[in-house]
Amino acid sequence: MKFPILNSLLDLVYPKLCVCCNRVLMEGEENICLTCLYTLPKSQTHNFSDNKVMDIFLGRVHLQKAFSWCHFEKETSVQNILHHIKYKGKYKFARQMGEVMSQEIPDFFADIDAIVPVPLHQKKQKIRGYNQSEEIAKGIQEVVGLPIFPELLKRTRFNETQTHKNKEERWKNAEGLFSLAANEGFEGKHILLIDDVLTTGSTAIACLKCLQQIPNVKLSFLSLAFGG
Ligand SMILES: [Zn+2]
Repeated sequence: MKFPILNSLLDLVYPKLCVCCNRVLMEGEENICLTCLYTLPKSQTHNFSDNKVMDIFLGRVHLQKAFSWCHFEKETSVQNILHHIKYKGKYKFARQMGEVMSQEIPDFFADIDAIVPVPLHQKKQKIRGYNQSEEIAKGIQEVVGLPIFPELLKRTRFNETQTHKNKEERWKNAEGLFSLAANEGFEGKHILLIDDVLTTGSTAIACLKCLQQIPNVKLSFLSLAFGG
């Protein structure tokens, strides 16, 4: 902070609010108040190889483990968080959530070699200014120190949003949506795919099927939220 007094004055005039409950944030709180952070509807399981998220991938793509940190439901704090990191330019908040999540599940990363975020199309990333999944990955990296490869997967079509599509349309839409940019150096590695939210799984599975082309690769999945 370059101008601490000015910043304090600005905080008085325009206090920073919690993205979930709209209460004024206390000193040391960023984006979300501690009460909202501690009462997030977190996944109760820490069995990473047998859980509801794993079931989404079952029979479609072989994973070592999969986990989503919170349950996503409409009109909840989790929806507020996802909305802010995706549409409100809060890329630092995405990093913050990646950090908090990985601090809570350090065991998850023990045998992972590399992190790959679900890519946005280049055009979309330019418009948004960042890729929220990559920012979550950066937050994870802060805690566990793993390398991130944001260029390994490419989004081949400038795809309209999946939000208003039904299940079947989403699956069709996701087919052939990604391509693998490289193979070298990743043979036999354990790659972790990161997304902000898992819904039908169509996007994640399309990404994972691309990564599966790497010889002897092991794959896992992690997202901030699951459901919706
Ligand atoms: Zn709050």
